[in-house]
Amino acid sequence: MAASYQIIDHVYDAVVVGAGGSGLRAAMGIAEAGLKTACITKVFPTRSHTVAAQGGIAASLGNMGPDHWTWHMYDTVKGSDWLGDQDAIEYLCREAPAAVYELEHFGVPFSRTEAGQIYQRPFGGMMQNMGNGPPAQRTCAAADRTGHAMLHALYQQSLKYATDFYIEYFAIDLIMVGGECKGVIAINMDDGSIHRFRSHKTVLATGGYGRCYFSATSAHTSTGDGGGMAIRAGVPMQDMEFVQFHPTGIYGAGVLITEGARGEGGYLTNSQGERFMERYAPSAKDLASRDVVSRSMAMEMREGRGVGKEGDHINLHLDHIDPAVLHERLPGISETAKVFAGVDVTKEPIPVTPTVHYNMGGIPTNYHGEVVTLKDGDPDSVVPGLFAVGEAACVSVHGANRLGSNSLIDLVVFGRATAHRIGETLKPGTAHTPIARAADDFALGRLDGFRHSKGGSPTSEVRLAMQKTMQSNAAVFRTAEILDEGTRKIDAIYQRMADIGIQDRSLVFNTDLIETLELDNMIGQAVLTMHMAKARHESRGAHMHEDFPNRDDVNFMKHSLGWFRDGAVDLAQRPVHEYTLTDEIDYIKPKARVY
Ligand SMILES: Cc1cc2nc3c(=O)[nH]c(=O)nc-3n(C[C@H](O)[C@H](O)[C@H](O)COP(=O)(O)OP(=O)(O)OC[C@H]3O[C@@H](n4cnc5c(N)ncnc54)[C@H](O)[C@@H]3O)c2cc1C
Repeated sequence: MAASYQIIDHVYDAVVVGAGGSGLRAAMGIAEAGLKTACITKVFPTRSHTVAAQGGIAASLGNMGPDHWTWHMYDTVKGSDWLGDQDAIEYLCREAPAAVYELEHFGVPFSRTEAGQIYQRPFGGMMQNMGNGPPAQRTCAAADRTGHAMLHALYQQSLKYATDFYIEYFAIDLIMVGGECKGVIAINMDDGSIHRFRSHKTVLATGGYGRCYFSATSAHTSTGDGGGMAIRAGVPMQDMEFVQFHPTGIYGAGVLITEGARGEGGYLTNSQGERFMERYAPSAKDLASRDVVSRSMAMEMREGRGVGKEGDHINLHLDHIDPAVLHERLPGISETAKVFAGVDVTKEPIPVTPTVHYNMGGIPTNYHGEVVTLKDGDPDSVVPGLFAVGEAACVSVHGANRLGSNSLIDLVVFGRATAHRIGETLKPGTAHTPIARAADDFALGRLDGFRHSKGGSPTSEVRLAMQKTMQSNAAVFRTAEILDEGTRKIDAIYQRMADIGIQDRSLVFNTDLIETLELDNMIGQAVLTMHMAKARHESRGAHMHEDFPNRDDVNFMKHSLGWFRDGAVDLAQRPVHEYTLTDEIDYIKPKARVY
């Protein structure tokens, strides 16, 4: 079996899996510290999902009005519905301005103010004066192509350092020995060769698992491969029940219209032409945070005020905005609306509906990027050799709900922090201890099993069943009954993994096989998402449980942790960090969250 695969060996100080914004920033910094670094990626770096980010990156530069990092921190804590770890949030918001200037110096072509400074737009939930308003213009933008500009600049920079890129290599599994990560096994998709990467530090920067759902704004490659690898390595996942629905996915296509559209003055109306957000969020209105806006839209549709024959979408208006402004600030979405909705945004509204967009949950880490687990009663116990960063990770700065433009800043701030940690704790050229073959037999056994699978369930069928179940049973509104049914359904779908059957047995660009490995990575996270949602008997951030409509800080101001082993789910809780990093700001105490 496994022995029949030839293995090509590589030896590195550190390996980064993923070349999105977080992976590139981490890899660059590790190489800069003089460590021998590899970056493995299943798609060409500049095709990572980060390229699709439109609206911008948050930092309190104060270029367009008063701002301060403590205000950014307050908004992020409030946005997280007090589930975020405040030490990590302080680190994020304090470091954010320097991280944006670093990007500027790397060559990101930010839009400019008249005075030549970086242009900043308002975004949902970003306010002045510790939440008291008015809105803060905090989101730095390169028109509506910020992620594109960032990813290209980061890739160009990373070529300056001696990082070895392994492009179109698919990481299969971590090499774990006695609870410690020793590297990763990957397949070169082009020729089917198997590669063993030994490393002292392995960084998972594999992005989110949005494709668990039927309709998502994320790329088809967002299949949570890092989470899948972590689960199989015995690492728990954290806060998976918090799935962000972006209010403005184009109806039908699921393609994103950035929140920047509302930042530039766009607004939502129902079938009666009413600007309904004024009723739900009298002060922030259309710029309330995403969970609030998505829920309000769902309410309007549920109460019969949705737009269209089926009453199943909402209108987004930009037609009152000066076409010259649209052309300058939102050129990409004007084109997207034309292509995917057949709409001329200067004349007609865009039909939109809440669409899965971001995973607040992921692999638990501390603010150094080190993966943590609950061990011997210690909830902050570090898993030696393993790091996670970006959407794959849960630091947790986004808690129960992420504010728009806070992900891009999370990528670079924690990508850099991870590189610093690795640079401080590892000497270049440190010798590797020999390891038993058993560690890679596990990865190759899985690969071989799927490659020769002859069951009656095609991958595409099982995947569709999973996506439909997630879409209907772990949606914007949840009830005990829907979640009961959801856990039963998703557990049954997981059982079908044993009955998978694929057609292509080759090893050269075998998309049938790769998609099966991706499905295997997603399904564990789908199961955990559903079970964690069922277990959280409160409503907080993106998790709206109608049988428990209130937030319950006594029992649930806790992170959920979940293991998935041999088809069985094991849940636990982990305390939220109710402390800050320095004395410059006090812990922000929970209060009711109104916008
Ligand atoms: C349409 C859209 C618009 C957005 N707009 C914004 C915005 O304006 N502002 C904001 O802050 N956030 C935005 N977000 C969120 C943000 O863009 C993402 O959360 C972020 O880009 C994720 O970056 P990442 O580095 O974690 O991973 P990604 O960019 O998703 O990259 C993942 C990387 O991992 C690699 N990989 C994955 N699995 C494997 C494997 N098995 N083997 C090898 N390599 C693997 C991939 O090749 C890829 O290089 C947006 C998201 C979407 C979907």
